[in-house]
Amino acid sequence: MKYVDEFRNGDTASALARLIRAEVKPGRNYRLMEFCGGHTHAIFRFGVNDLMPENVRFIHGPGCPVCVLPAGRIESAIRLAEEERVILCTYADLMRVPAGSRDSLHKAKARGADIRMIYSATDVLAIAQANPERQVVFFAIGFETTTPPTAAVLKIAKAMQLNNFTVFCNHVQTPPAMMHILSAGEAGIDGILGPSHVSAIIGSRAYADCCDKYRVPLVIAGFEPVDVIQSVLMLVRQINAGEAEVENQYTRAVSQTGNQKAQALMQEVFEQRPMFEWRGLGSLPESAVQIRSEYAAFDAEKRFNMKEIATADIKGCICPAVLRGVNNPDECKLFGTACTPEDPKGACMVSSEGACAAYYSYGRYR
Ligand code: SF4
Repeated sequence: MKYVDEFRNGDTASALARLIRAEVKPGRNYRLMEFCGGHTHAIFRFGVNDLMPENVRFIHGPGCPVCVLPAGRIESAIRLAEEERVILCTYADLMRVPAGSRDSLHKAKARGADIRMIYSATDVLAIAQANPERQVVFFAIGFETTTPPTAAVLKIAKAMQLNNFTVFCNHVQTPPAMMHILSAGEAGIDGILGPSHVSAIIGSRAYADCCDKYRVPLVIAGFEPVDVIQSVLMLVRQINAGEAEVENQYTRAVSQTGNQKAQALMQEVFEQRPMFEWRGLGSLPESAVQIRSEYAAFDAEKRFNMKEIATADIKGCICPAVLRGVNNPDECKLFGTACTPEDPKGACMVSSEGACAAYYSYGRYR
């Protein structure tokens, strides 16, 4: 299959890995953060780590939309479903994420709340049309990849004058989170594997400030094993040369300027949110979007006068440190014992993009 088989070719992967082993400098560590959970899973699934020399280490980043959502936002959504009796619609991954007080959307649904799993943002419009007597809320999450579809349904809902539809907006932005992690300096990052899908929307130039300011190279990488290994080689070469440039390995999907139609759509419907709380990273200024006043009638936070709720993560869960690249999942005392994919205690074990789920699914790391 074009664009798949050639990027899973074992001979190519081995040849690239040999180049990496030949080019890394003995005595120097190469700590590379894969920002996106999709890369974490690709690294584990295809055994990329086994091909790397000892001094190349992958540090897992916060690029998992479910993982970075703080428990308080989930608690707010549960209250909306139970107290306001709305039909709450969201993506399946979010259902089992523990909210504060050991609750989850799944448990709230079992108690009788009308919470529905959807496959695409447009499913919510169909639910709203089919239930004109009920308020329908889309619990929207995700990075720049899922923000344009939410913008599109808001535009459609406005055009249709759908008065029983609103969005609880939790869309976050990649570059500010990256900047925050680099400015904190806790994870000791030498290079970054940039996200694939997000970059297809925002373009490679969106990371230029990040590289310039923190003098860290970034290579946008595809999701196949050859993509990842080639991107590691590109990072090793930049690190050896003392460079800090944005490079694009994933040229078959990512351009310098990204998807400008999607950007215009986001711009039309959303504006910068002054402050947003991330799980693990805390409150970050200008790191998320909110619905513009022109679309205020479709903003669940305004329609239902939603308030911020502060809740603590489950005791012993080190998801926040895992998301900052400070700890690995197998350093958590609950990993694989009290916390498993069947009975997750934290978001990083629930999500299909979570680092803890990758460790558990594909075996423990070195
Ligand atoms: Fe949290 Fe479970 Fe991961 Fe530990 S193993 S950090 S409890 S999700």
